[in-house]
Amino acid sequence: MTVQTPTIYNFSAGPAILPESVLRTAQAEMFDYNGTGFSVMTMSHRSDVFMSILYHAEQDLRQLMGIPDNYKVLFLQGGASAQFNMVVMNLANGFKRVDSVVTGNWSRIAHSQMGKLSDVDVHLAAHGGDLFNYTDLPAPETWDVDPKSAFVHYCINETVHGLQYRDIPKPNDNMPPIVCDMSSEILSRPINVSDFGVIYAGAQKNIGPSGATIVIIREDLLDRCSDRIPDVWNYKSHVNKQGMYNTPATYPIYISGLVFRWLQSQGGVTPMQTINALKAKILYDAIDHSGGFYINNVQPQARSQMNVVFHTATPELDELFAQESTTRGLRMLRGYKTMGGMRASIYNAMPLQGVEALIDFMQEFQRRYG
Ligand SMILES: *Cc1c(COP(=O)(O)O)cnc(C)c1O
Repeated sequence: MTVQTPTIYNFSAGPAILPESVLRTAQAEMFDYNGTGFSVMTMSHRSDVFMSILYHAEQDLRQLMGIPDNYKVLFLQGGASAQFNMVVMNLANGFKRVDSVVTGNWSRIAHSQMGKLSDVDVHLAAHGGDLFNYTDLPAPETWDVDPKSAFVHYCINETVHGLQYRDIPKPNDNMPPIVCDMSSEILSRPINVSDFGVIYAGAQKNIGPSGATIVIIREDLLDRCSDRIPDVWNYKSHVNKQGMYNTPATYPIYISGLVFRWLQSQGGVTPMQTINALKAKILYDAIDHSGGFYINNVQPQARSQMNVVFHTATPELDELFAQESTTRGLRMLRGYKTMGGMRASIYNAMPLQGVEALIDFMQEFQRRYG
């Protein structure tokens, strides 16, 4: 009997799926980038060739997100986790307080880190639930923020708990500048960059490989960056050196640039939003119409369109689901280590067919074990 190899769909939360065409281009260019005779991995970050890759990656990101001219764009290292502290080091000088909204795993870690190496008061402005039990999002109107705080930090899409702010808080006179962790949803839908003081995102969720962290910062906030901050952690130093203060993550930036071009070829973030909404809808519908076999406890208005968490009645059945789905080519569906259950990350690069294949399997699994 011949067993047909199934198509592989990668539901990893991060590092995560990349468009196949991007990987094929990288493969084709691996040994010889654009006639240079060598790989992007092996060229100086100060070479004209790499400077051009960086320049175009930034321009394409600006085009895709509609980033205004008064915002700077950096590709840093250290992941989103380094930003938890960099935003405080750079933006809270001379301020007494930063406001912090905790709605899940990542904003909770950010909250716990932001006060380190700083005297600033990290004020809990809003909290989304009990520890490990985040099922709803506190509306921005209810956040207890002070306009005199250095900023308010929140996470727009909680990758682990599967929650996403659909509505973007609007800046107003009662709101300090908004700092947003956009790691797991950047470029999944149109947003208005001008609503934010700082946007940051690790690339490895919805953009490219790990190693590059995008920071988009409103120019006037750079005045807050003290010269006493070591240059490697200082936004202003990176901006003044055009992102070349030290060696940037050249290869991840190159791949990210290929992903930006792929997104442009798909028509940009507006069509992405349509398809992302459809993928999420059919998956949540499958969960909600399973008669309670599959469970998602997040309030409907707070459900993430990027990371869909669900579980069955028992951890044993969840484990069986994870094992059997793997043999069907549906990969990396296990939930986060502290969460258990399942998590399907359905980022931009996940085709609709992948979600349909997952739903087919869910229904078949339920017929056998339901
Ligand atoms: C993955 C993730 C992080 C941590 O990213 P690192 O690059 O590992 O530091 C932070 N915030 C969110 C929302 C994430 O999804």
